[in-house]
Amino acid sequence: MKQEIELYLSKYQYKSLNIKAAFFDMDGVLFNSMPYHAEAWKRTMNAHGIPFELHDAYVCEGRTGASVINEVFLQHKGRMATDDEIQLMYKEKSDCFNSISKIERIPDILPLLETLKADGIDIYIVTGSGQESLLDRLNKWFPGIFCKEKMVTAFDVKKGKPDPEPYLIALAKSGVQPNEAFVVENAPLGVRASVATGLFTFAVNTGILTTKELECELNDSGIVLPDMKAVLNYYNELKTNAKI
Ligand code: MG
Repeated sequence: MKQEIELYLSKYQYKSLNIKAAFFDMDGVLFNSMPYHAEAWKRTMNAHGIPFELHDAYVCEGRTGASVINEVFLQHKGRMATDDEIQLMYKEKSDCFNSISKIERIPDILPLLETLKADGIDIYIVTGSGQESLLDRLNKWFPGIFCKEKMVTAFDVKKGKPDPEPYLIALAKSGVQPNEAFVVENAPLGVRASVATGLFTFAVNTGILTTKELECELNDSGIVLPDMKAVLNYYNELKTNAKI
């Protein structure tokens, strides 16, 4: 058995991983949207005289816009942002993102989803995004994979990642136990939410973070992999070993 699986099973005293469901984050997992989010945050912060690098945006991924703005204000101005400042900066960031972003799938994500679908695994999306047109966009880029009933979005949660709430809701919706599902995440705070829910987590490094920045969130509950091809290979190996 793979070492990460052994660690996970012994941590929770499970006998096996018996995968029935898979929970996917969206930004940086399904769509290659993070480079545009990061660039939009950097331009907006810098325009307001606040030092902010692309790397900072990757570290913050998963937080709400207001929480990102408040955190940098505390750090650089020693105070929280006002509601007007939050509204203005978040609008600037969103406008910038919309003007520069191109929708692209993350490489090799489609064969992974299609394999899971063919195996009868229930596929859920668990995202902090609250875009109204999300399902239309998912259907266009991933035909037949996602449906309305199997989504946890910003509309379903009070706290959001890194709180475990979104993954707890996904477990409740899917009706499976933690050892009957796995998560695919790309951001440290997303991994933290997933691990806090007791789920085995593939932390896929699709951005500019170091392996260590993801690894330190895993806490014996998953593995860092470089891309979606590696996730598919890992899943296929688990299947062959009848542990999935
Ligand atoms: Mg993400």
